[in-house]
Amino acid sequence: MLKPLYITVDPRDNVAILVNEGGLPAGTVFDSGLTLVEDVPEAHKVALIDIPEGAPILRYGSVIGFANCDIARGSWVHEERMSMPAAPSLDDLPLATAIPAALPPLEGYTFEGFVNDDGSVGTKNILGITTTVQCVAATVDYAVTRIKREILPRYPNVDDVIALTHNYGCGIAIEAPGSEIPIRTLRNISLNPNLGGAPMVVSLGCEKLQPVRLLPSNTLPILNASPYVVRLQDEEHHSFEDMVIAIMELAETRLAELDKRKRVTCPASSLVVGLQCGGSDAFSGVTANPAVGYASDLLVRAGATVMFSEVTEVRDAIHLLTARATNEQVARDLVCEMAWYDNYLGRGDVDRSANTSPGNKRGGLTNIVEKALGSVAKAGTAAISGVIGPGERVRTKGLIFAATPASDFICGTLQLAAAMNMHVFTTGRGTPYGLSMVPVIKVASRSTLAGRWSDLIDINAGTIATGEATIEEVGMQIFQMILDVASGRHETWADHWGLSNDLALFNPSPVT
Ligand code: CA
Repeated sequence: MLKPLYITVDPRDNVAILVNEGGLPAGTVFDSGLTLVEDVPEAHKVALIDIPEGAPILRYGSVIGFANCDIARGSWVHEERMSMPAAPSLDDLPLATAIPAALPPLEGYTFEGFVNDDGSVGTKNILGITTTVQCVAATVDYAVTRIKREILPRYPNVDDVIALTHNYGCGIAIEAPGSEIPIRTLRNISLNPNLGGAPMVVSLGCEKLQPVRLLPSNTLPILNASPYVVRLQDEEHHSFEDMVIAIMELAETRLAELDKRKRVTCPASSLVVGLQCGGSDAFSGVTANPAVGYASDLLVRAGATVMFSEVTEVRDAIHLLTARATNEQVARDLVCEMAWYDNYLGRGDVDRSANTSPGNKRGGLTNIVEKALGSVAKAGTAAISGVIGPGERVRTKGLIFAATPASDFICGTLQLAAAMNMHVFTTGRGTPYGLSMVPVIKVASRSTLAGRWSDLIDINAGTIATGEATIEEVGMQIFQMILDVASGRHETWADHWGLSNDLALFNPSPVT
């Protein structure tokens, strides 16, 4: 039985997070002498001092809100007792004013991967069948079922066959501003390192998003060769069966090529790791996210690319991030992505506060400011060396901000487009999230979740809150698991159960 325990992050904090499972009752006395004056739920905030009405409430050494009333020492600090501060202005942010010194290089770390012609490295060897439009999705799904049953067993070096289906491609304003986002997302996903860098495409024929627009010949000369596109409306197909056979024959050509590939030893610098959180709670920012942040620093030191994302979950910490940019241009690129998203949300008459979910709040996260300050812990301490827009492919090594919505599926989809070959996902409330294309390592923020979902959670960071492990120990465990999973030596729980969420495109432009 754990003794009464709370956790603070920064010496300036005037609230702490309650650790004990099930919360603690009024009258509980902590080692520090603090006494609860009312019941406080697990993961929720307790006032460490008397906080007068109007005074700032500090967590992570930052203002997460202002007291709506006098809050006595030992009280539960919840949503109704605090108001939210405004988001930092984008006009006077510090630009590259606190660039972290380069971290010492970490050499000798490798994984076993599939090297592609473009120099990227796959952590899986998958045949991906790209679709231009939802109209063909059911037919491709049908063909994939048959390919997996009838053809794939003959090609044992290929891990899987997947259909890249989506709801874009027609009935859309394809020339509207913003339409380049879903189009380049589909294009770059088709070129994801885990798909061998040479997509095959199934098109209907009459759709707005024609194969040549999805994958212009300058991005992929090989597409001029007809064998890589099946068009269902072509007159050579006289039946549904004809269409399915055409897809299956083309798939077999690709499978024969993919099957020749073998894993070879690659430097850890070939990893492109996407970081994300979903179903966060108040522990996320003190356990799982800082441990992932430590792993992120190790990856950056090993020369890898690490992406953090989720605009609405960094917006309130943007002043900390622009200062860490490696130069003023990168800082300005960060500001640009924030401004674009502020405007996007504004068009829907909301702001970043629309992010927090009921589960976040039950998990002790009062507002988006508190959530963001905990979320950015995933980004570790390295300098931010680049920024990419939604659906773009990463161009540089190091720590990159890939601008995406925070929605788990959309963020994951956009990170796949960015050339992600490993995904690390932190959760406090719990989600069985998974992706078909790239392994997902799930890290729990609480031991209670890791215990209840022991066949879904890969790493328990809750041990940091109870003092059983350090951030560095769990961070090293995450780093090592990334190398093992990337090499095919260790299977994540999501892959074990075959859990894969659908691709979810980010389409900010109108449908017609
Ligand atoms: Ca998310």
